[in-house]
Amino acid sequence: MILYGGTFDPVHNGHLAIARAAWQRLGSPVRMMPAADPPHRPPPGASAQDRAEMLALAVADEPGLCVDRRELERTGRSYTVDTLRALRADEPDLPVAMLLGADSFLSLPGWKDWRDLFGLVHFVVAQRPGEDSVLDPLPEPLAAEVCGRWAEDGAALAAAPAGRVMRLGQPLHDVSATALRSRIAAGRPWQHLVPAPVAALIRTRGLYRDAANTASWL
Ligand code: ATP
Repeated sequence: MILYGGTFDPVHNGHLAIARAAWQRLGSPVRMMPAADPPHRPPPGASAQDRAEMLALAVADEPGLCVDRRELERTGRSYTVDTLRALRADEPDLPVAMLLGADSFLSLPGWKDWRDLFGLVHFVVAQRPGEDSVLDPLPEPLAAEVCGRWAEDGAALAAAPAGRVMRLGQPLHDVSATALRSRIAAGRPWQHLVPAPVAALIRTRGLYRDAANTASWL
């Protein structure tokens, strides 16, 4: 199982590109898991319902991708470690990989019970444009925790339930949700950065037009 957590505020072509790459490289479907109430950042610009609806539209024609609503169905804050502990109660031995961008991977030491995450999942890390060398070398204390965990391919991940770290090594896509929201608020071109049905929903609901709301994210 591959879990891809994020705010997806909104989902964009960069998210979809790394999800597809992970599916193709590891041969396992990618479950895109929107956070209900992100603990590591300000509240999202769109409701959890809108974000989940955009995700559902985005994956509708993607054979290897689906939406995983488990964090939306729980009350309280979406700490990744709580989500994964709940998953492990049902699936103790299943290999599970968590897909994330290099920026999120580097922020792991700020996450709740972050060292425990390595006992719960593998990590598949996607490089982001402009961050070519951020993983070389890793900063402490992440470097010490990751030492000895690097895996070259999906076979190493399939051989254990958790504990390895792999680079995705996918083509880079220079898009972020922050840049997308500010383009929408500023009336600059943005529709090429999301799938057409997602663009249609953003337009119909008038999402992210409020510059004041968007500015608080920058
Ligand atoms: P924001 O700009 O608001 O931080 P984001 O575009 O990073 O948003 P998130 O929902 O926070 O979107 O991202 C979910 C995950 O996807 C994170 O781990 C992030 O690092 C990763 N990610 C997002 N965009 C890209 C991209 N273009 N390339 C690789 N990884 C990405």
